[in-house]
Amino acid sequence: MSGCENAVDYVYQYLDDELTYAHKTRIKWHLKRCGHCMSAFQFETSLKGKIAEGGKSAPPAELFDTLRALIEQERNKGDSDC
Ligand SMILES: [Zn+2]
Repeated sequence: MSGCENAVDYVYQYLDDELTYAHKTRIKWHLKRCGHCMSAFQFETSLKGKIAEGGKSAPPAELFDTLRALIEQERNKGDSDC
């Protein structure tokens, strides 16, 4: 696990509680050290909360593709400080 890539890639599974405890712990550990991933993670969390408020149906898959693309953009913007 090198850091950012893995952490961001697992955000969705993390939020859906699909990861093992050990795996979640590793991601949390990375988030603590990395403001970039933390902000991405918080963005996802708040978005997921908004979706949950909006309705009980699952969000469209396209939405997550869009988000993933946005995160990729963010990730490529600056030099990684991880
Ligand atoms: Zn990171």
